[in-house]
Amino acid sequence: MSEPEAGIWQAGWYRFAKALPSPNFGERPTGAHVDLIVLHSISLPPGRYGGDEVQRLFTNRLDWDADPYFQQIRGTEVSSHFYVRRDGELWQFVSCDARAWHAGASAWRGRANCNDDSIGIELEGLEGERFEDAQYETLASLCPAIAKRYAIAFIAGHEHIAPGRKIDPGPGFFWPRLQQRTGWPVSRFPEGTVPG
Ligand SMILES: [Zn+2]
Repeated sequence: MSEPEAGIWQAGWYRFAKALPSPNFGERPTGAHVDLIVLHSISLPPGRYGGDEVQRLFTNRLDWDADPYFQQIRGTEVSSHFYVRRDGELWQFVSCDARAWHAGASAWRGRANCNDDSIGIELEGLEGERFEDAQYETLASLCPAIAKRYAIAFIAGHEHIAPGRKIDPGPGFFWPRLQQRTGWPVSRFPEGTVPG
């Protein structure tokens, strides 16, 4: 690892994120080749922004009785490596060297169980709604930083790796904007999300 990379990563933790360690993670399988970033959207309850419910969910501290919607997810133990607030603020819950629990049943680039070898980024938002400029800004710095440490060859939405089951981040996420900001090749993105 070169000096600049050593400076921004420490054991899989990104220096420019607020670290809030989650107990919801495991070891990656031996020999796992981390080459995929998975984008998600989340808000709790759906469509309400600015609270700390997502941080609580990912650290098993959500009060399941605080909102009727939470009954649907009661007892869920999930996590993501990263979470990008509407104002661009970045949080990290799991070391990128470890396996976070964000994808569930999934497959991409011919491999199943994407949690094994992907990095999950949750965007505070709702499927179908737009995302904020500040969130794209954060992604524009975070994604290349991840790609400096891990050999990222693919980026996809939860909707792409679990079609029919998941719809996030949804049509409100503008993939061409991320492609332009990262300068990543079109082939790295799901077919049809960015102009060829
Ligand atoms: Zn998702």
